[in-house]
Amino acid sequence: MTAAAPFRLGTSWKMTKTLGEAGAYADALRSAVEAGSVPPEVRLFVLPAATALAAVRDRLAGTGVALGAQNAHPGPEGAVTGEVSMSMVRDAGASIVEIGHAERRTLLGETDDMVADKVVAAVSAGLTPLVCVGETTAERARGGTEDVLARQVRSALSRLGSSRPDELLVAYEPHWAIGSGGRAATPDEVADGLATVRQALAEEMAGTPSAVLYGGSVHPGNVADLVTGLDVDGLFVGRAAWTASGLLDLARRCAEALGERRTPDLVSAIVRKDPR
Ligand code: PEP
Repeated sequence: MTAAAPFRLGTSWKMTKTLGEAGAYADALRSAVEAGSVPPEVRLFVLPAATALAAVRDRLAGTGVALGAQNAHPGPEGAVTGEVSMSMVRDAGASIVEIGHAERRTLLGETDDMVADKVVAAVSAGLTPLVCVGETTAERARGGTEDVLARQVRSALSRLGSSRPDELLVAYEPHWAIGSGGRAATPDEVADGLATVRQALAEEMAGTPSAVLYGGSVHPGNVADLVTGLDVDGLFVGRAAWTASGLLDLARRCAEALGERRTPDLVSAIVRKDPR
């Protein structure tokens, strides 16, 4: 990440929130932006349920908070009952689409092939893919983490041909660290996985602006350690950001931790610039 790049902090609301609740959350974010209480170095995004996209879009217009969908079907419009297309979520206000979340892979059978098709469809629709990758407990236990992550990243991007998104987001989310059954990871436990994701991304998508995020049981008590202890461009959060105050609290903590994180970089930059 360059010094000028914003730090991403995003949340998926998963299968929560009525229209009224989604609207109240968005109103609270708008008020915080207007009050100047969102740190400028942190760029927020929210992924509501598809039912609330348009309402949240209207409330967040002009705030700089990006909006995304949690999923969309890879095909064009047509006879696919119960699905929404990439262009439909874009029309409803999404600029990002999440693809391959652990819950979709494990509960709904989303495969690497489906993820690859969705990435192509997202890029054709002008959306920023947010590709989620992560190993299961069993894959980690047998020492397969790095192979799984490299495979998932490469496979996700394998059908793009020469087309490229304006920007690509990849979230490393170990399955064992996600959700109410998850265990919060320490930076040491996930640093190698992040490096593998970054390396695969650099090899597959050189020249395409991309950001590598970490997600899994991020909460107010561990966010500073994750920001300062990891080479990461952002955080992706579930439960701890299901209230606007939760997201805003994490944003403030990220900004404080970023200040600490940059100090050693600055020191080494000064040392490198003035070796005499
Ligand atoms: C997630 O499911 O992507 C996630 C990060 O959830 P949580 O923060 O609740 O573990």
